[in-house]
Amino acid sequence: MVKSKIFKGKDIYITSGFGKRIYIFNGTKVSDFHYGVDYGTYLLKLPQYAIENGKIKHITITGSLGNCVYIEYPRLKKIFQHGHLDKILVEVGQTVDNNTIIGYTGQTGQTTGIHLHLGMFPNLDWNKNYYDRNWEDVSKYIYPNKTVIELANEVIQDKWDNYPKRKELIEEAGYDYSEVQKLVNEILNKQNNNKTVIELANEVIQGKWDNYPKRKELLEKAGYNYSEVQKLVNEILEKQTNLKKGDKVKVINAIQYDGKPFKTYYDVYDIIEVKGNRVVIGIGKVVTAAIDIKNIKKI
Ligand SMILES: [Zn+2]
Repeated sequence: MVKSKIFKGKDIYITSGFGKRIYIFNGTKVSDFHYGVDYGTYLLKLPQYAIENGKIKHITITGSLGNCVYIEYPRLKKIFQHGHLDKILVEVGQTVDNNTIIGYTGQTGQTTGIHLHLGMFPNLDWNKNYYDRNWEDVSKYIYPNKTVIELANEVIQDKWDNYPKRKELIEEAGYDYSEVQKLVNEILNKQNNNKTVIELANEVIQGKWDNYPKRKELLEKAGYNYSEVQKLVNEILEKQTNLKKGDKVKVINAIQYDGKPFKTYYDVYDIIEVKGNRVVIGIGKVVTAAIDIKNIKKI
């Protein structure tokens, strides 16, 4: 089963592959070279879409391929040939995109049933004789029905290798590499820049960002402002020292000294006791939690 952009993801299947074949037509054994791939549509007259921006190059009506449309795709540098169409809904010279219905699957010409005969050759071969064109097996390209967003997420999930192999694979599958990669970069940048300066400063204090100068490098590579983060780190560390009973503090990380999270109901807490880096906080004399000094900030 194939899900192709041509049919907007509807299920189709190959009924006859590319290349040499022998078949029975009208009771006679025929041997020929098949210059395309035949796709069955479960006998449905399905709309056939252009797969991306292109132009209707040519239309023919012949006894063999019936109603036949040629679409040129400049980016792919290919011409697609859609044969046996029931109805043709486009005109020569018309520009098309992935929402243009060029026609419906049919059984015009020499065919035993409703199907799409899909041929493909390099657009540079247009002026060559029909059989001199470098007809290619379109089925080895997928031209599947994935959106740029789906692809970008697959790239992020490591399903498309790395550059330059990634470019090759994506283009071979019929997609626009630069469009996909641009979205990948946008998503990754957003993910990286998702953290607030406070979150980052806490991560730095927890040792997650190495030490200067490596820290500066890592933070900047991830798209953050190093000096802004480090300034807050210094402020927090400065305020953490000299904490004493009665000081007012803000909880920056609601995790108890033993590692369990707790809920904060107030913006400001009082320090009830300090023992090394273990600080008991609460409201007045009512204890809320024992917390590591690194998780609170003097105000
Ligand atoms: Zn065919």
